[in-house]
Amino acid sequence: MGDGGPRLSIPVVWTDLHRLHEPGGEVWVGVRTPGTEVPERADRIRGTLADASIVEARAHSDEALLTIHDRELLDHLARAWDDWEAAGLNRDPGQDRVVPYIFPVPSLFPAGVGPALPAAASARAGSFAYDTMTLIGPGTWEAARAAVDAALTAADLVLEGERAAYACCRPPGHHATRGAFGGSCYLNNAAAAAARLRSALGGPVAVIDIDAHHGNGTQAIFWDDPLVLTGSVHVDPGAGWFPHFLGFAEETGGGANRNLPLAPGSGDEVWLEAVRALAGWALAGGAEALVVALGVDAAGGDPESPLEVTPAGFRAAGRELGAPGLPTVLVQEGGYDLETIGELVRELLLGVEEGLRGAGERQQ
Ligand SMILES: [Zn+2]
Repeated sequence: MGDGGPRLSIPVVWTDLHRLHEPGGEVWVGVRTPGTEVPERADRIRGTLADASIVEARAHSDEALLTIHDRELLDHLARAWDDWEAAGLNRDPGQDRVVPYIFPVPSLFPAGVGPALPAAASARAGSFAYDTMTLIGPGTWEAARAAVDAALTAADLVLEGERAAYACCRPPGHHATRGAFGGSCYLNNAAAAAARLRSALGGPVAVIDIDAHHGNGTQAIFWDDPLVLTGSVHVDPGAGWFPHFLGFAEETGGGANRNLPLAPGSGDEVWLEAVRALAGWALAGGAEALVVALGVDAAGGDPESPLEVTPAGFRAAGRELGAPGLPTVLVQEGGYDLETIGELVRELLLGVEEGLRGAGERQQ
């Protein structure tokens, strides 16, 4: 709680609406498991940031979202639960969340033929989902939409003159692409913030993703966009980790994408070297603002990743990310150990403040 320690000056954007998204677990290898992306995550983080100034997320129009997502995805997410309920699937066979069972993988289709939008709600559930883990319930759309509003509000605060702002939001976003959702993500919050900064500033912006898993959604959204640099440090998908199909070093897009996959078991030294490399790369690429996709699941002890970063490592990473002295928007992604998630986020934010302070002193 910072008792006697440094006070946090980065404003924290918040919305109670995150609690409307109760995933109700995950369907993994066909089995319903409890899942770890639970409402308590955000509440635990907020609990450790009690000394910060809290800013309520402001509503933004869909226009901001349509620069990074297809209209069809938004329409689907907005109505999927109502359609599911109207089709009676929650009563027969008794599935209380939207769970897909058929997927339009590209090789299903002859050349020139694309997937139809299925008439049945049960089949439509697979039209935009790329896994079975990312369930939709009654409040999922409202919560996902509010998380985007939180990220956009943090971007607004920075554009209004704050040196940094943090969106304490869920569900997370970095696995969501323009037209597909998965990995517990529905809408790409960090990408929305980056698009907002790019259009306001006109110049290049960078997204640095320090979540333990590859930011495949952000990579895909800005793949051909030279004005949004996307860098990600994560556990090597080739070693058997989500998102499995993507996240390898050779994926460079139009030249503005950089992936630094790490071996399972990697700790502070290797991980910090990668964070430092990405921060330097963003600065060398002319970035005028920075978005940090702030997952803390690289921590040793997190149930969702085999990386071994310590709290001191997160503090040091924050310093590296603040060191370029760029206007910085931090957006919450993963982190699943409820006992430590708040402390880890706080350490990272304090490190960013230290890094920005150092950059400011160097400029004087
Ligand atoms: Zn993650």
